[in-house]
Amino acid sequence: MKIKSLYRKFAFVTIMIMIFSGLFSFLLSNGYYQITLKKQNDEKILNFSLKIADFAKKQTPTNLPDYFQHIGEIGYQILLVNQKGEKNYYGASYRVKNLPNVAIEKVFHGKVYHGIQHFPGKTFVTGFFANELTNSIGVPFEYHQQKYALFIRPNIKLMFNEMHILFGWLLLLSILLSIVMVLISTKYLVHPIRKLNAATKEISEGNFSIKLDIDRKDELGDLANSFTNMSNKLAKVDQLRRELLTNISHDIQTPLTNIKGYMNLLENQQISTKEKEQYIQVVHSEVNRLSNLTKQLLLLASIESKKELMEITTINLGEQLKNVIHQFQWSIGDKGIMMSYSLPDILIKGDSGLLYSVWENLLTNAIKYNKENGTIDIELSTVGSEVKVIFKDTGIGLDQQEKGKIFDRFYRADSSRARSVDGTGLGLSIVKSIVTLHSGKIEVESQKGKGTTFKITLPKL
Ligand code: ADP
Repeated sequence: MKIKSLYRKFAFVTIMIMIFSGLFSFLLSNGYYQITLKKQNDEKILNFSLKIADFAKKQTPTNLPDYFQHIGEIGYQILLVNQKGEKNYYGASYRVKNLPNVAIEKVFHGKVYHGIQHFPGKTFVTGFFANELTNSIGVPFEYHQQKYALFIRPNIKLMFNEMHILFGWLLLLSILLSIVMVLISTKYLVHPIRKLNAATKEISEGNFSIKLDIDRKDELGDLANSFTNMSNKLAKVDQLRRELLTNISHDIQTPLTNIKGYMNLLENQQISTKEKEQYIQVVHSEVNRLSNLTKQLLLLASIESKKELMEITTINLGEQLKNVIHQFQWSIGDKGIMMSYSLPDILIKGDSGLLYSVWENLLTNAIKYNKENGTIDIELSTVGSEVKVIFKDTGIGLDQQEKGKIFDRFYRADSSRARSVDGTGLGLSIVKSIVTLHSGKIEVESQKGKGTTFKITLPKL
């Protein structure tokens, strides 16, 4: 509906512009005729009339009516008035014979009648083309001692008849043609907008695989390109959203099914205390998994929305890392892991809460995927304008293929050991998002069965 009106509006405005510019140029050329050409025309015809009169006086043609008849036939309208006031017309007749007597008398008194120059200045169509006696030039002349008044104007019809028709057709054709062109060009202009509109509707209905065949090098082509890029991105986001939803549902469903199953078993009165403890333990760990999952999902959501709202403060990184280690002291000791670190006081700017999650995730992974009596080494140092944090463990390690995927959302390396421990597969993807948000980068080196090292580089201030 809107597009239709845009098309109409555009065509209407352009046609209006054409009409106005036509009218304006008509008025302008009319003004030019009134101010300059009219006078010139008057002079030209006056010269001609004087020559005719002069010739008649000096050469005295034997037959005066014949003489004027000839001139009339060449393309002039002539009125000859003699002293008795008798009027004789030659050439094509005047449409309006409205010459006032004063004008005739004036000419008999030896003056020139400038009818063309003084013709009322309306449009040049009525001026230049007005076939009226008042719109003529009057000159006095003598023939055989007789005084005459000679009124002449060019026979415009004879001179311009073909031209008239030609110009008429030219004007009509150019108007028609430009209207058709405007309609076509407007359609050409509005067409891609229609396509874009249709594509927008498709996208809003969830169909992202649109193909816009708009191949233009102008702003509309640009818009179409940006539109295609946008729809591709939306398609990716949509795909991610679907995957995320499936993964989340799966990750929630599995512990819930387990909890339900073990609760059923616990309802059985005949089970031993040992079995009961075992089942409660499983329920506990599943509840923990669910709690972890929701925590991480919340963190993920907050990172997505945090991009512009990071709370940047100055952080003592050494101190923060020590706090994290302190928090996990118990589980480190529980697994018999040897912990070593070198954490000098280094200040950086960043979002304290988000960075805390990074170290928390890396450390819990280093503990989770470590071996009994393994080691963890954490080192903090400054390299130029950057800060480097290294987490090194002697854990189960990763093979080449797993290494490439660990930063993907919900990815968990498919080793039986990794599966046996709690995890959501979200931790490292969160870590990477936060590091990227801080304009830093994260690299991983690992050897299957030997251990893994994560290197994080962050800009210092
Ligand atoms: P999870 O919740 O499973 O720990 P993460 O995103 O933190 O999810 O890690 C993804 C996967 O990467 C883990 O499932 C694990 O297989 C692997 N991984 C992460 N850290 C380590 C590590 N320090 N040593 C070995 N494997 C690791």
